[in-house]
Amino acid sequence: MSATIIDGNAQGEKLRGKVAEAVRVLAGQGVTPGLAVVLVGEDPASRVYVRNKSAKTVEAGMRSFDHKLPADASEAEVLALVRQLNADEAVDGILVQLPLPAHIDSAKVLLAIDPAKDVDGFHPVNAGLLATGQQALVPCTPLGCIILAKSVHPDLSGMNAVVVGRSNIVGKPVAQLLLAESCTVTIAHSRTRDLPEVCRRADLLVAAVGRPEMIRGDWVKPGATVIDVGINRVPNPSAGEGKTRLVGDVAFAEAAEVAGAITPVPGGVGPMTIACLLRNTVQAACARRGLKVPL
Ligand code: NDP
Repeated sequence: MSATIIDGNAQGEKLRGKVAEAVRVLAGQGVTPGLAVVLVGEDPASRVYVRNKSAKTVEAGMRSFDHKLPADASEAEVLALVRQLNADEAVDGILVQLPLPAHIDSAKVLLAIDPAKDVDGFHPVNAGLLATGQQALVPCTPLGCIILAKSVHPDLSGMNAVVVGRSNIVGKPVAQLLLAESCTVTIAHSRTRDLPEVCRRADLLVAAVGRPEMIRGDWVKPGATVIDVGINRVPNPSAGEGKTRLVGDVAFAEAAEVAGAITPVPGGVGPMTIACLLRNTVQAACARRGLKVPL
């Protein structure tokens, strides 16, 4: 293996440390940022995420407000809770854990969140601000990708960046952020012709596809930086019957032979998401009060 492994756990911890320091500064000004998380239903993975988010929020010195609604809660109930949180002065950030149960229109719920408290950065107002190069609350996972890329290349300007995936929550915002860093950005997707060749042009390759190990070693330009957003659970028979393991969208072992730097899965982009969520909560708390962000 020749690539430098980009340590998302270490980078996430570093950012959470900076957030905790910013929270201490804000406490001196009488401000304690608060993050509200809304969980609807009993999805086990979502419950783990929410528990983790609450613990890390409190660890950083912020207030955490957990709201759990039953799986059969109506859309009107969820919307009413979001409106209540919009009006609550102690709440600076609102995160509605996705996926929501099928009978609830996620887009409608996300649209109901006050854009000033939209710490997930999914509201069209924040997406529009990002796209027009203005101050916005930026989606957490994409922001984490940029921080990891900049840990290797502090100045990304002029790099050829290829983002594989065009979802609203990962691919598009990553591409916007890379454009803001003055990269030359290509967005690839399921209709892209000759994807391996497109990827081979990338100095910076971001994979956000959701297909286990789709991006092979020979798709990677020698020396490129590879950021793997994918989280895919696959069978792991060698560990025993019914066992599974997590892999990314990039065939890690192959790609690490060619790349200059690469994020592992797990331990790459994943740990950055919560750290960026905490960062966004501090940003929202400051913006709402007209304070400078101490970060
Ligand atoms: P989506 O399913 O919403 O989007 C996947 C994108 O990949 C689409 O744009 C799709 O193209 C494209 N795609 C699918 N198949 C191919 C293919 N064969 N060739 C080229 N492009 C393809 O996924 P998300 O963006 O939500 O998530 C992507 C991955 O990131 C998932 O593994 C997810 O688990 C992970 N993730 C990780 C997070 C973290 O914290 N680390 C947070 C969020 C997501 P098209 O638009 O044409 O259909």
